[in-house]
Amino acid sequence: MCRRIPLVRAKDIVRARVFIAVIAFAATSTSGSRLPRLFIPVAITSYPAIHLSPRPNNTTVDTIVLHHTANDSVWATTKWFQNPTSRVSAHFTVGKDGSIAQHVSTEMTAWHAGVSQDGKGRRAVNRYSIGIELVNRGDGSDPWTPAQLKATILLIGALLRDFPIRQIVSHEFVARPVGRKNDPINFPWNTLTHFGVPLHFGEPKPN
Ligand SMILES: [Zn+2]
Repeated sequence: MCRRIPLVRAKDIVRARVFIAVIAFAATSTSGSRLPRLFIPVAITSYPAIHLSPRPNNTTVDTIVLHHTANDSVWATTKWFQNPTSRVSAHFTVGKDGSIAQHVSTEMTAWHAGVSQDGKGRRAVNRYSIGIELVNRGDGSDPWTPAQLKATILLIGALLRDFPIRQIVSHEFVARPVGRKNDPINFPWNTLTHFGVPLHFGEPKPN
C-alpha cells in the first residue's frame, strides 16, 4: 500500500509567509539614521579563539586595528588562535575569497596589538580596539584581492554602525617599540577614505 504524505501543508506555508513578513518588517523598520540591527551585510563564520580577556570597565571601543596574518588562510590563522602557546587572537579574519571569521566577541578584549600606543598616547590598544586580521603572507608581493577588500569594507561599515569608531589604524602605527611591526603591508588605505574616519598607518612620527 502506498500512502502519499504531503511534504508541506498549505497551513504551514501560510505560517511561513507570516513569519517572513514579520522578519521583513523588523529588518526595514528603523529609528534614526542607523541601519537596523537585523540588517546583516556580511556572512560571518564563528571560529573561536582561546586567548581573550574582559574589556576594562567603562571602556569605549573607538579604534579599529588592521593586521596581516603572515600566512595564507583563515584556517591557518584560526589554528594559531586556538594554539595554547600562541597567546594571540583577533576579533575577525578576512580571507582572500572574502570570507569572514569571527574569533572573539567584540565585547571582549582580543590579543592582537601587543605592546602598543595610539597617536594620542593611549597605551594598551587592545583594550579599546577591534582587531581585524587580513589574510596575506606579508612578503610585500602577496596581492590584496578585490573580494577581500570588499568584505573588509563591508565589515568595517558594519562596525562603524555599532561603535563610535574615531580612528582606523595599522598595527605598524601602534606597535611599540616603533618598527616592531609592518602590517598590514602595502594595504590600499585609499579604499577606506570614504568612511570619513581618520586613518593612521605607516610608522608614527617621533614626538
Ligand atoms: Zn599585526
